[in-house]
Amino acid sequence: MAANPLDRVAQQLEKILPASTQPNSPHLSGAATPPPFAWTEGRGSAPPTPGKRRTRLACLTSGGDSAGMNAAVRAVVKMAIARGCEAYVVREGWEGLVRGNEESSHVPTDNATSPPLAGAPVDVNAPQRKGGFVATYGEGELLKEGEGEQTLKGRYIIRVGWDDVRGFASIGGTLIGTARCAAFREIEGRRKAALNLVRHGIDALVVCGGDGSLTGADRLRAEWPEHIQALLESGDISQEQYDTYKHLNIVGLVGSIDNDMAGTDMTIGATTALHRICDAVDSISSTASSHSRAFVIEVMGRHCGWLALMAAIATGADYMFIPERPPTAEDWQSSMCKVLSRHRDEGKRKTIVIIAEGAHDCNLNPITPDMVKDVLSNRLGLDTRVTTLGHTQRGGNPVAYDRILATLQGAEAVEAVLASTPNTPSPVIGIQENKITRQPLMDAVAKTQEVAKAIERKDFEGALGLRDPEFEDCLHAFRATTRLNTEYRVPENERMRVGIIHTGAPAGGMNAATRTAVRYCLCHGHTPVAIYNGFVGLLEGNVAELTWLRVDQWGTRGGSELGTNRTLPAEDMEAIARKLAEYKLDSLLIVGGFEAMVAVNQLDQARNHYKALNIPLVHLPATISNNVPITEWSIGSDTSINVLVDACDAIKQSASASRNRVFVVETQGAGCGYIAMLGALASGANIVYTPEGGINLKQLVTDVEFLKKRYQQDVAGKSEGRLVIRSEKASKTYSTEVLSNILAEEGKDLFDARLVSLGHTLQGGVPSPRDRTRAVRLTVKCIDWLEEQNRAGASGAASIAIQGAGIRFVPVGEMMGAADMKHRRGKVQWWQSMQKLVDVLSGRVNLENEPLDSGIVPTATS
Ligand code: ADP
Repeated sequence: MAANPLDRVAQQLEKILPASTQPNSPHLSGAATPPPFAWTEGRGSAPPTPGKRRTRLACLTSGGDSAGMNAAVRAVVKMAIARGCEAYVVREGWEGLVRGNEESSHVPTDNATSPPLAGAPVDVNAPQRKGGFVATYGEGELLKEGEGEQTLKGRYIIRVGWDDVRGFASIGGTLIGTARCAAFREIEGRRKAALNLVRHGIDALVVCGGDGSLTGADRLRAEWPEHIQALLESGDISQEQYDTYKHLNIVGLVGSIDNDMAGTDMTIGATTALHRICDAVDSISSTASSHSRAFVIEVMGRHCGWLALMAAIATGADYMFIPERPPTAEDWQSSMCKVLSRHRDEGKRKTIVIIAEGAHDCNLNPITPDMVKDVLSNRLGLDTRVTTLGHTQRGGNPVAYDRILATLQGAEAVEAVLASTPNTPSPVIGIQENKITRQPLMDAVAKTQEVAKAIERKDFEGALGLRDPEFEDCLHAFRATTRLNTEYRVPENERMRVGIIHTGAPAGGMNAATRTAVRYCLCHGHTPVAIYNGFVGLLEGNVAELTWLRVDQWGTRGGSELGTNRTLPAEDMEAIARKLAEYKLDSLLIVGGFEAMVAVNQLDQARNHYKALNIPLVHLPATISNNVPITEWSIGSDTSINVLVDACDAIKQSASASRNRVFVVETQGAGCGYIAMLGALASGANIVYTPEGGINLKQLVTDVEFLKKRYQQDVAGKSEGRLVIRSEKASKTYSTEVLSNILAEEGKDLFDARLVSLGHTLQGGVPSPRDRTRAVRLTVKCIDWLEEQNRAGASGAASIAIQGAGIRFVPVGEMMGAADMKHRRGKVQWWQSMQKLVDVLSGRVNLENEPLDSGIVPTATS
């Protein structure tokens, strides 16, 4: 039985090397770049038990690429090293695993800089990182510039270190490559993959891909005992290898732009694809309007209409075709023309139809963009163009949410793979109700394939039922805000005059909320009444009814078209009550942040004194700071993180181009550290300071030392930008300027420091699609709630709160009870536990001695 010669060398070396080079040596923690915590005196804990073999954990990306895959790889590699594993990446997906490393392949000869031969311990006496392979591969530059192919020729399974994944989070696609692999579909191919895993001593695998890739993962795992037995019998592996690698643990991460995986509310890459689509449709809309044209825009999604539906809602499209809900009428052409000609009759100058690539009629005959174009041109006489967005949807930098999702899920994948036992089924990591989840991989794949089968059976209700609740809500909202017919009108005696008012600071998505409120009210027979300029405007009589067409373009605009300010009703409650009566308002929708909640409470408290206040009052949380209690997300809080992340990318880039520099980035957020914390996780900041955590001198000293050590470890001559994110109210004493000065002084020859204050830019220009779609979905629910209250003769006062994928109306008294009035934030904030993950990923915390599943990946309830 001939064992792999490399493994033999490795085994011999392990026996003869001195104790200092055994696995507990920090230098062995990850290729030529060890984790920072192994050599800082930070908060790291002791190394693992001497002599214990480290788990070798490999990560690969497979199938169609999606934005955020790199962030997932980064999180897996860093978390694996933090957990005391040796980290590997497999290039080119399953193809790389089947091919393995050719023995004749080029391996850099400079021992000081080359990655170790697979299976062989690193030469710990070699000086660390003098530039060369690891350093440049680490920044992904070799791969980006095509040189990687040459350097890595014939080598697919690569051991990686801490810094090898530096900067990965902000880059689109997958830097470690992906491929479709026909060989892996055959058992012989999977056996080769198994052999390569054993040869490299890999005992845990994290696979990021779509349902195809994950099916492959499940097969490999299911067949593992058979493969390993056959390999032993053929003499390809030794008895010792057989005994050591009897089990393989696999965990899946869903990387897919389609958001088509059952059992997870969101897949890695879907949100970025939605951004790309919305950017394109927004651009097309302005030219469509100018020329009074119609556009038919095809978007990706295979069997899943998620991208088409969300894009249609976010961009205010006129019509949409998705596979799960084909037109009910056989003559879909006439149904579509009826809707679109009514829009034109109202005075619309543009017509936007969004069509999913898998669209079909109720008999499963494909509906193509050209078919739709012909109908619009021939029947409605519209000057119609077709735009197929194609692969632009896959590309570009990942948006903040995909970075955060991929980071949380990548970290969780490591926890899951290390916690797996031979008896547990392979899990896939998902997100449900804003909590990171694990569920059996095959169940999720089977359920996903169910959707396609349901559609094939023409069981469209069944297909819809397999989507998450948001999908149905959005479908309903789209219909109600685009149809002008009277079928949804409520009885005459239930119709209301609904006041719409904005309070507090502007936030992305406020206009989408107003647009939806106006359209939905009209659809139900209510009268939407706009109150301009907040409660001040109400007192001034700045009030007007809004029309369907008036708000048409509002959905995509930032700021507040109605105008907003911080004045609260208690300043002159009597006059407010008089005005509400004068305008005969039957209910009020108040859009805004913490102030808006307080305003609703003031109105509620004053009801006994003023009869006109006895109307249903609903608050829709909208604030960039996300500081409204109970709700996990406010409208605008996604736009602000995206602005922060884009700014941080640009800032880091400027440093990398010129010098070693630490940027102290100041964010808004008042007493709430949400923007800073999520921004830090998404942008890969080294340090984050929040009002909740504060800043103290001792911590500052540690942080300065930490930054110094990070720079000392960098490749000489290579500039690097690092980020410190500081929430504006993190400390009165240690202001952004003071922090920046301290860092500049202490950094001396290693780095300088600059401050950047993002200020009001965080309120964002164009609201993110996530904020827009959320605004639409929640506003519809708010109007429904006002209707229910009105019908029941009740006059409740509540905020709408997102809790996971669920939505709840929370009485304003309960909201106030959950608020920390002094700091203007919730008493409990679900994202606060992310601090530890930020610290782990920046290399300050070693998890080797922490039990698995100790809550390192925060969830809504942890
Ligand atoms: P995605 O992962 O994005 O759904 P594919 O369906 O093309 O993309 O799958 C990617 C790769 O996963 C395939 O090229 C193949 O190597 C592997 N794969 C897909 N389906 C299977 C299967 N049923 N059995 C084994 N491997 C599979």
